[in-house]
Amino acid sequence: MPLPYVSRINQIDSAELDIEIYKLLKNEVNQIARYNAPGKFDKWQAEIDAILKILIWKFSLQQSNSTFGQRLLNLHYINLSQKKAILYLLLTVLPQYIKDKLANENLSAHGDNIHRLKSLVDRISNVISLLQLINLFFFLHRGIQSRLIELLLGLSTQSITTNKPRNIGYSYMTRELLWHSLMELFTIGLPMINFHYLKHLLRKLWRRRTIQQRDIKLLPVMDVSTKCAYCEENPILPSHAGCEHIFCYYCLKAHFTAMNTFHCPKCDVELYTGDMKRYMVATSTSNDTVLSLKGPT
Ligand SMILES: [Zn+2]
Ligand SMILES: [Zn+2]
Repeated sequence: MPLPYVSRINQIDSAELDIEIYKLLKNEVNQIARYNAPGKFDKWQAEIDAILKILIWKFSLQQSNSTFGQRLLNLHYINLSQKKAILYLLLTVLPQYIKDKLANENLSAHGDNIHRLKSLVDRISNVISLLQLINLFFFLHRGIQSRLIELLLGLSTQSITTNKPRNIGYSYMTRELLWHSLMELFTIGLPMINFHYLKHLLRKLWRRRTIQQRDIKLLPVMDVSTKCAYCEENPILPSHAGCEHIFCYYCLKAHFTAMNTFHCPKCDVELYTGDMKRYMVATSTSNDTVLSLKGPT
């Protein structure tokens, strides 16, 4: 009798969901252990993992013929007997438990035998991983038994609701897509907008006042309390460009890279890229405070 078709993606998804549910529970357990003394809880990690898996098995495969992931996608095993369910549990829990236990064990305290056992376990787990990969290829080809354990126990998956293969909320997906493209647009677009210039433009519209201080070339003078006119921090590599204010080299250069003109945020004078200079201590104002600001060169 041919089985009703179960899509590959549903089977893969159910396996993924099982892993996610296990991780979720493990995360919760780790949250409890977080504030305990380190080492106290780690010792029992292998046991805790095994108990979690047994609990998951008890409430899913033992009670009904499906894992939690399968139940979420309306799937179940059609030929899962009690014996197979117990074998399923043993095969999923025991090998991992032995591997974890050996990995956490302090090997130097034991003899040679445990070393040999560990390398044997490692080799077996490598072989199992390889078999899982081969099984995956077979699964993609045949469309049944996505997990190695299903192949071993001869389990077949069937859909509970035969007339409704897979229900996807497209409205949700569209919303998600829109949201992501919007985020992308912002992350690419926002750094390209010259906010300083826009702010200045708005302010000019508001005040409608022209500033004619352009011809007065003021030389800035720096002292200990001088802050960058743009970022209001201690100026790094102090620079200026025609008004009496001091800027960080980067604060000024970044604006001149975007545009040829820049309006001083303090005095609103229009500054030009050609006027940009590094701040030098003028000979007439060379006092100790200015010199000390420059620091060792
Ligand atoms: Zn600055
Ligand atoms: Zn200024």
